[in-house]
Amino acid sequence: MEYCDILIIGAGAAGIAAARAAHGAGCTSVLLVDRKENMGGVLLQCAHHGFGPNLNGPEYTKKLLENFPKSIGWIPNVTVLSVSGDKRAILSGAGFGAKEVSFQQLILATGCREIPIGALPIAGTRPKGVYTAGQMQEMMNLYGFIPEGPVVILGSGDLGLVMAKQLAQTGLAVTLVEQRPECGGMVKNQRCLTELPIQLQCSTTISEVFGEKNLEGIMTVDGRYLPCKTLLIAVGLRPEREVIFGLENPDWLHLCGNCNAVHPMVEAVVNEGKRAGIAAWEKIRGSL
Ligand SMILES: Cc1cc2nc3c(=O)[nH]c(=O)nc-3n(C[C@H](O)[C@H](O)[C@H](O)COP(=O)(O)OP(=O)(O)OC[C@H]3O[C@@H](n4cnc5c(N)ncnc54)[C@H](O)[C@@H]3O)c2cc1C
Repeated sequence: MEYCDILIIGAGAAGIAAARAAHGAGCTSVLLVDRKENMGGVLLQCAHHGFGPNLNGPEYTKKLLENFPKSIGWIPNVTVLSVSGDKRAILSGAGFGAKEVSFQQLILATGCREIPIGALPIAGTRPKGVYTAGQMQEMMNLYGFIPEGPVVILGSGDLGLVMAKQLAQTGLAVTLVEQRPECGGMVKNQRCLTELPIQLQCSTTISEVFGEKNLEGIMTVDGRYLPCKTLLIAVGLRPEREVIFGLENPDWLHLCGNCNAVHPMVEAVVNEGKRAGIAAWEKIRGSL
């Protein structure tokens, strides 16, 4: 079984900051793992500006990774399946199947997950053309996918607005459906509603999806049928804590970033990551 002093699960902004802080404070045995190939987490798919001093997500990631110490252990393409109370984690990767890693302190930096259509009270079929907004952002910005319009986006929070802007800029007809009486999200993201021909329908939600093989349209609760070929679900994010399910808040566990609480701004995530890295190392030093 492999061993490290501090195991960090997730190499987004929080995990990178935690690894650097723990290493900078003196820990020589830090292991950072992520199921993706590259460090950066959700930042890598954010083509828009607004991170730190108005960088886009990949630019901000580059800044976070400047002079990243080579002595911090880094394993990409590895998913942590579970963590047990005796300080062991089970890792799964294409090259080695499954293996165990034991540790003294664990930093959970696994981000958050989107609420999918299956979790919503929406009737009808589940044809091709229905995605979460984050999935579409990843497909468009990392893999060059262009969806078919018209597009309906359920939810006008920041992620819904960011995607509405990007899709409208590609020339697709976009309608945002919002259950609250007014648009959500930050003012800077709401600007796309005046700058681009994006329709906003408030005080309503989607009741039914139509289409057998491919999406054909949706019905709103107030009886309006909107033809569409793409539907994005952007109704919220939930902290991702699956791997620590069943653990009762042990003193060797530190949560940071979006798995702790969903943060709208990356600076807060980075600061939480730094604090977690230092707290984990302080615990080890205190026990030496
Ligand atoms: C669409 C969107 C737009 C945003 N726009 C802005 C903006 O304009 N300005 C701003 O300041 N902030 C913005 N934010 C907020 C901020 O960028 C994010 O909150 C922050 O980057 C999240 O960092 P994180 O490390 O907590 O999570 P993530 O970046 O999600 O990283 C979590 C990592 O954990 C990995 N992981 C999860 N589970 C496992 C597992 N079991 N095993 C291995 N690896 C695992 C994932 O692969 C991922 O790489 C935005 C966020 C989103 C979602």
